Amino acid sequence: MQLTILGSGTCAPSLKRGAPGVLIRINNKKLVFDTGTGTLNRLLGAGVSVNQVDLLAYTHIHPDHSADLVSFLFACNYAESPRTKALDLVAGYGFDDFLAALQKAYSHWLNPKNYRITFHCMQDSKLDFGDFCLITKQVEHSLSSIAYRIENKTGKSITISGDTDYSDNLIDLAYGTDILVLECAFPDNQR
Ligand SMILES: [Zn+2]
Repeated sequence: MQLTILGSGTCAPSLKRGAPGVLIRINNKKLVFDTGTGTLNRLLGAGVSVNQVDLLAYTHIHPDHSADLVSFLFACNYAESPRTKALDLVAGYGFDDFLAALQKAYSHWLNPKNYRITFHCMQDSKLDFGDFCLITKQVEHSLSSIAYRIENKTGKSITISGDTDYSDNLIDLAYGTDILVLECAFPDNQR
């Protein structure tokens, strides 16, 4: 497994840190967790185009974590070579409504033209994708906020918190993990 931080910042525009995004490579699979503003350029900088992403996952829908979804879906249809590879989309409760609202707002521009999206709603659950599995737990942020534990076949794991307050669920999820990506949006003197 290979982890690349695409953005370690927040909703506040910064020249030092991009909005949140994480790339994980497992064997030949490319997984992206959250796509804040600018993530797609960072992804390309890491050598991965939108058409190469196998799975797109969201911790929650706050704009600093999801804004580039619009650009991602648009690029899948209208980049130089339109996407044909199926896309797995993973998120918590209500994300399918969020996606449907985006697709309505943007008319047909975001509807997949030459590929298929399979949406997986996860909250406190586990899904096996063959080369890896995803385990999620709800965390303390918005109602549908989830943290992810990604495990490969040899038992190595990476856990991604997303935004959260103190969370017993996150402690359970991250127990014994090899790498924990823990977001911290506020300065040290704040909660
Ligand atoms: Zn948030």
